[in-house]
Amino acid sequence: ATAIDLSDPEWKLKYQRDFEERFNIPHITDAFPDAEAIPSTFCLKMRSPTYINNKDRVLLKVINYSSPASAGAVCIDPDCTWIEQWVQRAGPRENIYFRPEDVKAAIVTCGGLCPGLNDVIRLIVITLEIYGVKNIVGIPFGYRGFSDKNLPEILKVVQNIHLSGGSLLGVSRGGPTVTEIVDSMEERGINMLFVLGGNGTHAGANAIHNECVKRRMKVAVVGVPKTIDNDILHMDKTFGFDTAVEEAQRAINSAYIEAHSAYHGIGVVKLMGRSSGFIAMQASLASGQVDICLIPEVPFNFHGPDGVLKHLNYLIETKGSAVVCVAEGAGQSFLENTNAKDASGNKVLGDIGVHIQQETKKYFKEIGVAADVKYIDPTYMIRAVRANASDGILCTVLGQNAVHGAFAGYSGITVGIINNHYAYLPIPEVIAYDKSVDPNSRMWHRCLTSTGQPDFL
Ligand code: ATP
Ligand code: MG
Repeated sequence: ATAIDLSDPEWKLKYQRDFEERFNIPHITDAFPDAEAIPSTFCLKMRSPTYINNKDRVLLKVINYSSPASAGAVCIDPDCTWIEQWVQRAGPRENIYFRPEDVKAAIVTCGGLCPGLNDVIRLIVITLEIYGVKNIVGIPFGYRGFSDKNLPEILKVVQNIHLSGGSLLGVSRGGPTVTEIVDSMEERGINMLFVLGGNGTHAGANAIHNECVKRRMKVAVVGVPKTIDNDILHMDKTFGFDTAVEEAQRAINSAYIEAHSAYHGIGVVKLMGRSSGFIAMQASLASGQVDICLIPEVPFNFHGPDGVLKHLNYLIETKGSAVVCVAEGAGQSFLENTNAKDASGNKVLGDIGVHIQQETKKYFKEIGVAADVKYIDPTYMIRAVRANASDGILCTVLGQNAVHGAFAGYSGITVGIINNHYAYLPIPEVIAYDKSVDPNSRMWHRCLTSTGQPDFL
C-alpha cells in the first residue's frame, strides 16, 4: 500500500485506486491478450440463474466510525467519513478461457490436516466434471507428489470422501522447488492447478503462478485457503475453523468435568493457534467453562504476583477447580528456543501445554496446596474429524468457485467468504501477514468477561 498523505485533497481517490490495483485479480489475458473467450454452458446445464458479471463486487470493508479503537481498526480518515473497499465476486462467468476437453486439472493439498479438505476436493472434481473435464489427477502428499512418476486419476472415487476427515490425497510439508513443480506441470500438460493449503502453500501457489506466466504457460492456479487457525486475512472465516471450535469445546468440557470431579482439580487444554488465538478464544467463549484463556497475541506473566499461577491458586481457594485453555503459540517466551524448523521452514514451537502442567504442579507443591492437574491436547483429534454442516456448505461453495475462477481465466487467485458473500482475491493480499486476534477488540473482551480472568501483567 502506498503511504497516504491526508493533506492531499485527492487522498481518498488515490487510496481507493491503490486498493483497486492491489486487489485486481490476474487474468490469463494479461499474458495472452489474444486468448479466446468461449461461451460457457455451465448455467444452462445446471439450470443456474445467471452468470456473475466480471464487474460484480463484494463489499470487503466499510469503515465509518467515531472511535477507531473500539472498531478494532485504525481510522485513517480524520473526518471519519465512509471508505468502501470492494473486491471481485466469485462465481461462474459467461465466458471461459479453457476448452473443457483441453483441460488437465490437478489438485494438491499441503500443510496440516483440516476438517473439510475432502469436501473441497470432492466439489472441485464434481464441478470440473460438470464443465466437461475428463482429465483430473490428484497430487499425492502435497507438493512433494509432483516428483512422483504416476499421478492417480481421482475422477471416480470422490463420491463419499467427505464422510470422513483427512485428505484423500494426503498432505505433507517441504518438497520440490517451484521450478521443479512447474517442470512437472509442463511435462504432464497440467493447465489447471487447485491448491488447498495455508499461507505457505499459497506462497508456493503464487510462485507457481508467476513461474507459469514467466514461461508463457497458459495455466490457471487457484488456491482454497485451508487454515484451521482462521489466520488468513480478509475472510470471515476459513473452512474447518467452525468444526475445530466445536470439537475444541468437547475437549474443554472433558477438562471441566475432570477438574470439577477431582479435589482441587485443574484442567489444562492446549488448542491450535500458532500465531493466532481464534480457536482458543472462540472455544472458551462458546463453552463458558474456561477460567483462563491464553493466546499468542496477549502477553501474560506466569510466576509473578499477578501471574497465572497466583490466579489459579485463587480459583482453587474460591471455586475449588479451574480450567485453562491455551493456544499452542502462547507463552513461547517461557520455553527454550530450539531454533528447530520443520520441512517447510516453519519454526517448531515448544509445548506450552506441558509447560503449564509441569509449572502448575511444581507451584502447588511448593506452596503446600493439593492440586490435581490434568492436561489434554486434542489437536490431532480435532484436525482429523469430518467437517460439520456449516463447514460442509462453506467447502462446497469454495470448491465450486475455485473451478469457476479457473475456467474464467483467473490465476494466482484464492477464494473466500467475505461479509457472507464469496469473492476472489489475489494471493499476495491474503498472505501479507497472519490475521490475528486484536487484543482491543470487543470479541477478546467478551472472552475476558466470560472467563473473568485478570490481565496477568
Ligand atoms: P499450515 O496452515 O498447515 O501450516 P501451510 O500451507 O502454511 O499450512 P507449510 O508446511 O508452511 O503449510 O507449507 C506447505 C507447502 O508450501 C510446503 O510444501 C512448502 O514447501 C511450501 N512453501 C511454503 N512456503 C513457501 C514459499 N514461500 N514459496 C514456495 N513454497 C512454499
Ligand atoms: Mg502455515
